[in-house]
Amino acid sequence: MDDLFLVNEINRLKIERDACILAHNYQLPEVQDIADIVGDSLALSKAAAETTNKVIVFCGVKFMAESAKILSPDKTVLIPSKYAGCPLADSITKEQLEIEKKKYPEAEVICYVNSSAEVKAVSDVSCTSSNAVKVVQNSKSNKILFVPDENLAGYVAEQVSDKEIIPWAGHCITHARITVDDVIKAQEEHPEAEMLVHPEVSEEIRENADFVGSTSAIINYAKNSDGKEFIIGTEIGVLHKMKKDSPEKQFYLLSPRLVCENMKMTRLVDVYNSLMNMQYEVFVPENVRIKALGSLEKMISIE
Ligand code: SF4
Repeated sequence: MDDLFLVNEINRLKIERDACILAHNYQLPEVQDIADIVGDSLALSKAAAETTNKVIVFCGVKFMAESAKILSPDKTVLIPSKYAGCPLADSITKEQLEIEKKKYPEAEVICYVNSSAEVKAVSDVSCTSSNAVKVVQNSKSNKILFVPDENLAGYVAEQVSDKEIIPWAGHCITHARITVDDVIKAQEEHPEAEMLVHPEVSEEIRENADFVGSTSAIINYAKNSDGKEFIIGTEIGVLHKMKKDSPEKQFYLLSPRLVCENMKMTRLVDVYNSLMNMQYEVFVPENVRIKALGSLEKMISIE
């Protein structure tokens, strides 16, 4: 099946199934191009909560599709690749978090959306990389147990000095592949370029950056900047939108290893199969969903 056939069939099936396709900024370019909405976790969570379509096809990884189901329980939520997970989300279980909570009973628990529904269900509030600083600033507690990304926790701690942030020792394996040598090499090769990175990178990478932000913030920064060259320190998928938005600008990926294998599992044919066979449906047990919903709704209300 060639791409043109798949695109036509996906568009036909989308109408037939009353479906909306959501795709993360890290998805393959051809998958982003057939999506109704492309964005970061926050934008996609809001879109999932607001869509009037009966079916949501979530092109991303499992925790994202789960969040869509938590926010839209009456919709059929499909994930085209059932093996697309997130090692960062898998780095903490509900049981581990419950043990950690007992060590810091006075702390508010803030979980990055890159976590399972079960972990969200035992957290006080969720956050994304777009709103993590705001969510922490909004907390009434001076002590925050922040899970599961230690790099995002470190970034937030730099921005919010009046609260103690206790991080969980998890990290994104994709962003962790960037080395200081990559930074030196990129800056030597492109001395005029601004370096834009995601807060999931380590502190030593972050401190060399001109801008730190979520995928959407990075895309918007490059679009609105007067600069002409940018070194990009996040997953390769964001380059697609950046090049479309600003074809006259130059973008250099900070490391050739910035490719998330899980995000790249969803191909056009998987989206087609998903709509054709209504696979793979995402379920969240209702008792877990209700508690996780509280955590996500609190986050959305802070926006
Ligand atoms: Fe998980 Fe990192 Fe891949 Fe995002 S880029 S899905 S955090 S492994």
